[in-house]
Amino acid sequence: MAQKHLEVSLISIPDNLLDIVYTACRTCYSPEGAVEIFKNISDITDEKKFSLIKKVISSGHYSTIEHIQLTFAINNISRAATHQLVRHRHASYSQKSQRYVKEKDELDYIIPEAIEKDPILKEKFQKHIDSVLKLYSEFIDSGIKKEDARAILPNATVSSLVMSLNIRELIHLANLRLCTRAQYEIRQTVKKMCELVVEREPWLKEHLVPKCERLGYCDEDNSCGKVKTKNG
Ligand SMILES: Cc1cc2nc3c(=O)[nH]c(=O)nc-3n(C[C@H](O)[C@H](O)[C@H](O)COP(=O)(O)OP(=O)(O)OC[C@H]3O[C@@H](n4cnc5c(N)ncnc54)[C@H](O)[C@@H]3O)c2cc1C
Repeated sequence: MAQKHLEVSLISIPDNLLDIVYTACRTCYSPEGAVEIFKNISDITDEKKFSLIKKVISSGHYSTIEHIQLTFAINNISRAATHQLVRHRHASYSQKSQRYVKEKDELDYIIPEAIEKDPILKEKFQKHIDSVLKLYSEFIDSGIKKEDARAILPNATVSSLVMSLNIRELIHLANLRLCTRAQYEIRQTVKKMCELVVEREPWLKEHLVPKCERLGYCDEDNSCGKVKTKNG
């Protein structure tokens, strides 16, 4: 058994992200063509680019940020969390297969923070993982295919994936999954993804927020109480 901790890496982001978004925004409102706008981009100050982009995004013209594709490599995330992640349909995923890859003699797993805090529950959790691994190995040794033996693996089993999405979808993901109502592990995963993007493009920080910060109120039935609810 080996307890693992989340790793997230931003493996692809365009160097000229701002120029691409600016060109998309400007093309909508300029008599010049997209080709000329991009060719003359060095004449435009960053201040001017930000000013137009801000106006366009705040008016809900989101197609302009769909041109930017980001790719993340994610390690040590539980199958419970990846199941939630892959519900986001405008992203592309390549995930480690439990059909083709045999779990190691040590089953790598994620312990939810709430269980980890309690030493007695943590020990029970680890014992359970240990016994599952024994049974899994017994199935494999008896000739059961990995794709069938995996049926007994826990949701805590670690996975690894590459995930690509555009900025519009990242903002949507952040709005839903940075909310305190989202489950802890997916919240941490999306938080790391957003931090990595903001490190490269600080202007996106104001958009990569939980939905209450965008809406100005909370629309969840069971609010955390941080901001006023939709009913006041
Ligand atoms: C706190 C929380 C609790 C949740 N609990 C549950 C649960 O109990 N059970 C459960 O099954 N799921 C649950 N989910 C998952 C949730 O229902 C969504 O499947 C998930 O959040 C993906 O959101 P999405 O569909 O908005 O996003 P995406 O798939 O990323 O899509 C983005 C947007 O594109 C549009 N879109 C995408 N596909 C279509 C389509 N086919 N038709 C029309 N518009 C489309 C929508 O506007 C959508 O909001 C939960 C999510 C959260 C954040």
